This record gives sequence, structure tokens and C-alpha cells, in this order.
Amino acid sequence: MNTSCNIIKDVYVLYHDQALTPESRTQVVEHLRHCETCRNYYKAMKDSMHYKSVPTAEDYAKALEYSQVARKLRNQKLLLNLSYIAAILSGILATFFVAKKGK
Ligand SMILES: [Zn+2]
Repeated sequence: MNTSCNIIKDVYVLYHDQALTPESRTQVVEHLRHCETCRNYYKAMKDSMHYKSVPTAEDYAKALEYSQVARKLRNQKLLLNLSYIAAILSGILATFFVAKKGK
């Protein structure tokens, strides 16, 4: 990469967001037309930006599904803990009544 490649690289994000002046944009387009290194770099950057794009409705649906599954698992764990407590209390009460009956 030469100096103009480094300058072009500095403005890729602005170019991608269409925030450059028309003159600057033309310079970037001209550079990309002649420089394969920058074209490949820009394509890689564009692909990585696309990957981190705004979440889609499908992403939100998956997140909602995960949170519903997580809530269900928390409720099941709570029920399991309550049943352990009930079993322990039943054991204590049974022991207490058996001991009392034995006197
Ligand atoms: Zn270049």
C-alpha cells in the first residue's frame, strides 16, 4: 500500500456511509478502480460491517425464544428447589411425629 492507499483506507467508513463530498467520493471510486489491494480491503471491510449489521426481526425472535426458554428453565429450577424443601420438611415432620408417638 502506498500513501494514497493509506489515505483511501482512512476514509473507507465515510465512503461506505456515503458521508464523503462528491469530489472525495469520486477520488475513492477512481482509486478503487485502479487498485486491487484497496478493492480487496474495501470488500473485506464491507463484508465485516455487513456481518455486524443491525439485528433483523429474526434475530429478535431468536433472542425472545432464548429468553422464554431461560425463564422456563428458571421456573423448573424453582419448582425443583421447592419440592426439595417440601420433601425435607415432610421428613422432619414425619420424624417428629414418629418420635412423639413413641413416647
Ligand atoms: Zn490502494
